[in-house]
Amino acid sequence: MSDYCKFCHWKDHYEKIWENDHVVAVWGSPYVKGHVKVILKRHAANLTELSAEESHAFMDAWIVVGKAVEQVLKPDIINWQINGNWVRHLHGHIYPRFKSDPDWGEPIHLPSKIEDRDRDYVAKPLSDDEKKRILDLLS
Ligand SMILES: [Zn+2]
Repeated sequence: MSDYCKFCHWKDHYEKIWENDHVVAVWGSPYVKGHVKVILKRHAANLTELSAEESHAFMDAWIVVGKAVEQVLKPDIINWQINGNWVRHLHGHIYPRFKSDPDWGEPIHLPSKIEDRDRDYVAKPLSDDEKKRILDLLS
């Protein structure tokens, strides 16, 4: 089980919101309002392993989904992150950021562990209406 890859099995863990031939976008942590994970469908650890077609699909996914999130939530800025520290399967994060964030002006780290930390974060999941409006833009 040590070589189990959560993102190869994304269907068991996440709700799909959009996909193209090479990438799937899923809802992320409720602790960052509007957080979306953009996951390469094929197991690869790094951007340097992508074909030209995959790299275009990966970037398209960020832009298409990011635009929908931006249009509905109107964040003050969006942070785009690729880390790969915990899951060595290429994926990126779309983090809408708001001036009201506890860490406004700083990078967001470890959002999936925020609930374990002594921070001012509280869960702020998308409302059903916000989700619907984002999904409508992506359909
Ligand atoms: Zn994988």
